[in-house]
Order: sequence, then C-alpha cells, then structure tokens
Amino acid sequence: VDSHNSNDSHDPFTDSERTLPEKVECIDDVDMADQVLHRKNSHKSNVLSEWDIPPDQLEITELIGTGRFGPVYKGRWHGDVAVKMLDIDMSDEEQLQAFKTEVSQFKKTRHDYVVLFMGTYLKPPKLAIVTSLCRGMTLYTRVHQRGERFGMNKAIVLATQVAQGMGYLHAKGIIHKDLKSKNIFLENGKVVITDFALFSIMRLSRENRRPNVMVIPDGWLCYLAPELITALRVDSSGSSDRELPFSTTSDIYSFGTIWYELLAGCLPFHKELAESIIWRVGKGIKQPLTHLQASKDVKDVLMMCWNYNPEKRPEFTDIIKTLNRLPKKRGGLHRSPSHPLHLSRSAES
Ligand code: ADP
Ligand code: MG
Repeated sequence: VDSHNSNDSHDPFTDSERTLPEKVECIDDVDMADQVLHRKNSHKSNVLSEWDIPPDQLEITELIGTGRFGPVYKGRWHGDVAVKMLDIDMSDEEQLQAFKTEVSQFKKTRHDYVVLFMGTYLKPPKLAIVTSLCRGMTLYTRVHQRGERFGMNKAIVLATQVAQGMGYLHAKGIIHKDLKSKNIFLENGKVVITDFALFSIMRLSRENRRPNVMVIPDGWLCYLAPELITALRVDSSGSSDRELPFSTTSDIYSFGTIWYELLAGCLPFHKELAESIIWRVGKGIKQPLTHLQASKDVKDVLMMCWNYNPEKRPEFTDIIKTLNRLPKKRGGLHRSPSHPLHLSRSAES
C-alpha cells in the first residue's frame, strides 16, 4: 500500500511490475481462459467484456487517498472517475472468475443514491474498478471532522435516502458489507452510497488472504453487528475460515450506526477501546441513548436496527416507512397546518 503513496501517483504501475515474466504468462492464461469461457458461454462473457475499460483510454491523474483496501485515484474516462486499485492474484483462475462473478452483479446497479459502477480496468498485473467520482464530502467528514449537526428534518431526509439506496441494493441481492459514514457522500443535499462492491472483492485480495491476520481499522467495529463481532473473535483465535457472516441484516445494523451518527454527532462507543467494544457488542450491550435528545420513536429506530437477534431487525422498506412517520419539526416555511409535510422536504435539504 505504501508504494502507492509515493510520488509516482501519475502512474501507479512500476516498471518491475510490468516486466515480471511469470505475470505476462499468467495474463496469457487469463486471455485463453477468457476465450474458452467465451466459447462456452458467449452471452455471459460478452456481458463482462463490454464493460471493461481499455487501459489506454483511462488516464490516471492524482491520488485521492488511501483507504483500507488500497489507493484510490482520480482519473479521466469520458469525464472524471474514481479508480480503486485492487491487489488480486491474476494467476489464480478461480479467483479471477470469482472476481468477475462478483463484479458482474455490481455492474447492473442503477440508483440515484448509489455510486455508478463503471467497470473494471486491467493493466497487467494490476486490476482496478472504476466508479463515478463523488464531488461532495463524505458524511463522516461533515459530521466528525467539520462537526456539523443536521437538524431532525435533514437527518430524516438523509437517512431515508440511505435506506432507499440500500433497499435497492438488497432487492438486487447485493449486501453492502461496509456501510459506514465514510462510504456515504453528500452531493448537493443528496446521498451517494459507495464501495458496496469492495468488501466482497477484497476478500479475494492477496493482502487479505494472509492466514490469522485480521486488520481492524479505526471506527470499523461500531458498524459491525454482534454476529460479525463474535465471528471476528473466533477468527482472531486462529480459525482458517476468515469469511465473516455478512447478511442484509448486518447491513441494517450498520445503518443503525449511521442513524446514531446523524442524531448524536459521534460514533457509538467512540471513547471505548476496540477490545471493550468487541466485548460489549458480543454480550449484547448497546451504546446508551440517555444523553440523546430525541423522541422515543426516533430512538426506537436505533434499537430495532441494533437488535441482537438479526432476524428481528427490520428491512429497509420498514425503516423507510418508520422514518416517514416520524414527526417533522416545522421550520420557517410557509405552510398551512394541513399541508402534507413530505411535500416540503426538498425545500429543507
Ligand atoms: P474509506 O472508505 O475507508 O475512506 P476508500 O479506499 O474507500 O477508504 O477511500 C480512500 C479515499 O478516496 C477517501 O478519501 C475517500 O473519500 C475517497 N474516495 C473513495 N471513493 C471515492 C469516489 N467514488 N469518489 C471520490 N472520492 C472517493
Ligand atoms: Mg470507501
């Protein structure tokens, strides 16, 4: 990861990477495998290849930042794009197929509140995924770094948008697995959910396949449902199966944390050490809400999403209905008492 942070940000591929002979061979294999696949299942192969972005058409301009999964670059391909570099072993045909299968799902997503997944980019031996470039700031930056607090009306609007985008992904059979305020951008009062692809893809990466190593990034634990936290504990004690039991219901738990951030302006358990969070959440202890100045209905949304029992957590369609029923505060808008509140939402965002 560090190598991507060096000054060569205009070209993330080093010469040594380009000239590794065994890698060149591997790519030939991949091409051959692709041809075989194409013959076997030409429709499926076509669907995959038509999205691939030709490397000579993509210009990588600057490093935006480095996250848990690696560096993210700004690029140009028919306009500005975000390029996420992946570290997947291209010589492993099984992994490559797993990657393609995973990615073929994400290519079918089209929703106003979900980042546009534009395709994959291959410049041997590196692979990247390309999405639309988000221009605003993340919800994390707005709430935790700039200390902004949204009023209840705005919090409801933003949470509803997140729930709508997430409900769409779930309806498409996609589990986000990394829903957090750093993966939600705010653009002109509208949310954009990003990185719903990454966690699934990155479990294939070389870095993440090291046995018995589990990196816990700052602020990640408070989004993890108890069943994931428990699995994390088993994992760190040496289990070889490193796949965490993510589900649509674990996404709901993460949504609960985002709702908390919107209301409280901080992360749950933000003063606790990782070990303490793991212990508490695993035992079913929740972040206390006594300090939160909000109605019971508002807090109930949190309690439902954070339910210890995954089966008892609501679905996004239920959450949207519940959020919609929450009483809105009246602002300085000229509105008769009988004026339907939802019609004035856009004016408040
Ligand atoms: P994280 O989500 O933990 O911040 P990422 O690897 O997703 O880590 O992102 C690294 C950096 O790139 C962050 O500053 C993030 O805001 C930025 N970034 C990620 N995706 C996009 C995107 N689609 N558009 C613009 N910036 C992005
Ligand atoms: Mg991200």
